[in-house]
Amino acid sequence: MILPGATIGMLGGGQLGRMFTIAAKNLGYQVVVLEPDRHSPAGQLADQHIIAPYDDDAALEQMAEQCDVITTEFENISAPALATLASKTLVRPRAEAVEMAQDRMVEKDFIRQCGLLTAPYGVIRTSSDIAAAAGEITFPAILKTARFGYDGKGQVVVHSVEEVRQAYGKLNGQDCVLEQRIDLDTEISVVLGRNSKGDSQCFPVAENIHRNGILHQSIVPARVSDDIAHAAQVAAIRIADRLDYIGVLAVEFFVSREGELLVNEMAPRTHNSGHYTIDACVTSQFEQQVRMVCDLPFGDTRLLSPVVMVNLLGDLWGGAQPHWEHLLASANCKLHLYGKKEARPGRKMGHFCMLSDSLDDALMQAEQVFKQLSSLSQTTDRVT
Ligand code: ATP
Ligand code: MG
Repeated sequence: MILPGATIGMLGGGQLGRMFTIAAKNLGYQVVVLEPDRHSPAGQLADQHIIAPYDDDAALEQMAEQCDVITTEFENISAPALATLASKTLVRPRAEAVEMAQDRMVEKDFIRQCGLLTAPYGVIRTSSDIAAAAGEITFPAILKTARFGYDGKGQVVVHSVEEVRQAYGKLNGQDCVLEQRIDLDTEISVVLGRNSKGDSQCFPVAENIHRNGILHQSIVPARVSDDIAHAAQVAAIRIADRLDYIGVLAVEFFVSREGELLVNEMAPRTHNSGHYTIDACVTSQFEQQVRMVCDLPFGDTRLLSPVVMVNLLGDLWGGAQPHWEHLLASANCKLHLYGKKEARPGRKMGHFCMLSDSLDDALMQAEQVFKQLSSLSQTTDRVT
């Protein structure tokens, strides 16, 4: 066991790193963050912030020297950088598991090898692959770049082979997957912790509502059948087992109108749809990440209350701080802000969790608070 007092390294300084840092500090660990942005959400709170690119040799050397174990908050850390670290100290999850989530082609192939379903898709490496890829799917479809996509970026909806050609032409030859658009009943996700002995524990399944490809709301418990919720947890554990995973892993699923459970993608880290665990579970996903990478026992993943998590995007700022008064007046509403200086449209600035004895009531109150924030921010826009 790596006990409190030890030093944990975090690759990446975003909000996931920030909430991890808070959890690690609560348990008495030191945290070193590697992040090139001087004003990052996690860097502000860490014991030490190394300001350097993620692949900077000297910075990696320093991390390896100072940290008893190193983990990550995002998947696009280069494989050589992870390998360098792993040759000197513990890196959890291991480099191969992180890499698996860096490329949609590799990821989808792996998911199918696990015996799980994905949306029908074809692979496009050059324009000569377009016809064959289109043969794998039924339109409409979504053309997605294989690498570096997040929050729906790098995705184009296409309705014909001709539109695929046009959209692919604009991507400067980047590898892509052409993925059939699923007629969705709902989307759900599973966040789990897995330890070095190979045991896993899942958090309750979240139901996720997206707007413009960005997560808007997570609703817990998810309004799906027990069978679907159970199947999703079993699938997530199977993925973690095949990856020989240590840490916190998230798996996103589509539930089609026909009731099929399809794996969308996975994230080798904590996840936006797991933020509700901070306020509504005995243990948060961030504490579980600390526990897993440090070989501590599992924290209890039990849900203490129905909860609705709502993301707060930069759109709400409109040049000024949103009017928090109404939100703060709800005693059962928990606000989390990430300390980002600049609010841009679509940028995740914070979230809130609405807790209530009934899920319907939590949903209603969350909607009310969110609407009020949105309408007040529009008023501010006009005034300023
Ligand atoms: P993130 O990493 O932030 O989750 P991403 O850029 O990797 O996002 P995806 O998870 O692939 O994007 O897609 C974002 C959202 O767009 C999905 O959660 C879903 O709402 C919608 N979407 C993506 N692919 C499909 C599909 N094949 N069928 C229906 N909806 C889809
Ligand atoms: Mg996604």
